[in-house]
Amino acid sequence: MEFSYSEEQEMVRKMVRDFVDKEIMPYIAEWDAKGHFETSIINRLAELDLMGVCIPEEYGGSGMDYNSLAIVCEELERGDTAFRTAVSVHTGLNSMTLLQWGNEMQKQKYLVPQAKGQKIAAFGLTEPNAGSDVAALQTTAVKEGDYYILNGSKTWISLCDAADHFLVFAYTDKSAQHKGISCFIVERDMQGFSSKAIKGKLGIRAGNTGEIFFDHVKVPKENLVGEEGEGFKIAMSALDNGRFTVAAGACGTIMACLEASIKYCEERTTFGKEIGKHQLVQQMIAKMEAGLQMSRLLVFRSGWLKNQGKRNTRETSLAKWQACDFANEAANDAVQIHGAYGYSNEYPVERYLRNSKAPVIYEGTREIHTLMQADYVLGYRQDKPLRKTLPAWPYKEHTANI
Ligand SMILES: Cc1cc2nc3c(=O)[nH]c(=O)nc-3n(C[C@H](O)[C@H](O)[C@H](O)COP(=O)(O)OP(=O)(O)OC[C@H]3O[C@@H](n4cnc5c(N)ncnc54)[C@H](O)[C@@H]3O)c2cc1C
Repeated sequence: MEFSYSEEQEMVRKMVRDFVDKEIMPYIAEWDAKGHFETSIINRLAELDLMGVCIPEEYGGSGMDYNSLAIVCEELERGDTAFRTAVSVHTGLNSMTLLQWGNEMQKQKYLVPQAKGQKIAAFGLTEPNAGSDVAALQTTAVKEGDYYILNGSKTWISLCDAADHFLVFAYTDKSAQHKGISCFIVERDMQGFSSKAIKGKLGIRAGNTGEIFFDHVKVPKENLVGEEGEGFKIAMSALDNGRFTVAAGACGTIMACLEASIKYCEERTTFGKEIGKHQLVQQMIAKMEAGLQMSRLLVFRSGWLKNQGKRNTRETSLAKWQACDFANEAANDAVQIHGAYGYSNEYPVERYLRNSKAPVIYEGTREIHTLMQADYVLGYRQDKPLRKTLPAWPYKEHTANI
């Protein structure tokens, strides 16, 4: 076992931290208050080679290990959940899925520009009547000659207005239930595609989330990812990577809560002493620290398994569930430590509390992860090997044939 960061990982952490401090922190309160998604941040992430951190160099990425992606997500979410969410859907849910399941043509055409940050990618699974219950989705893909015709809609899609490419899940055979779902690459420019942002969100207001619609969208048959009927498995394995980034990001929220709370503990005095000297305040600080350290260990174990090329659905689910709960609790306590001031946007902690709620819901709700963990422990659930696996790290020179 190795618990220390490599020199390269330390450098990435420092680079993202500096970027967040200089280019996100000074503006984020305003962007959040206005509900403004600052797309120039995505361009800057691309310039810094952060949109394809763990994608092999031969596919346009930086070729770093999977835990380097976790470090990027931690540091980005220390700034705001919105930008970590962007990396989660772009890299975790979309690019890593193409790396695992895409054929060589799809990798060259879609993964390479995504990993370079020249094209932005998103992930369309959830529908108005299908969230946790994925098999309830209603979008259909009917084969006509060399195309599939897609009809339906998706909701709560991160980067709905910003992404160029979407992985979209649709039924090619409804009678086969979840074994009749297939996965497609859909481009924004395809005729019949449209999107619309959702307004009035509780948190992640500096992010872009909304609906996407397919009105007889003609998708070339070459854009089918994997085989017909393999979409459910592809979606679930995509979530193994998305959840990993969400869990890592939650560590960033806890770091931000700790930083704000420690500063406030030093500034505020009651009953003749700094509030940090009151044991009940110390208890909240100690819980944040414990949450951060436990979450990080779970995240890095999951990343280590990915580096080994091993299945990690169980470990990633545990990391995602626990880290997001800890982050939500840390943000709640951070507001508590700030008293009434924490209830206003004069301090950042109210934003942390609002932002920390969505990760407890998306990529598997707290309840779904609780059930998964119980099922594993009770022996009701076992993971079978997948037809395609994420390449182990360090990458071999040619991952193409894996
Ligand atoms: C900010 C944000 C961004 C998002 N981005 C994306 C995205 O990019 N792409 C995408 O595809 N989706 C995205 N989502 C959607 C998200 O993944 C879903 O909201 C999530 O899967 C939950 O589905 P649901 O909202 O339909 O809730 P439901 O599934 O309807 O659940 C409602 C409640 O019932 C509980 N519940 C459901 N089933 C069970 C059960 N069997 N046992 C016990 N309790 C149960 C749930 O835990 C929850 O408390 C996003 C959501 C948000 C909030």
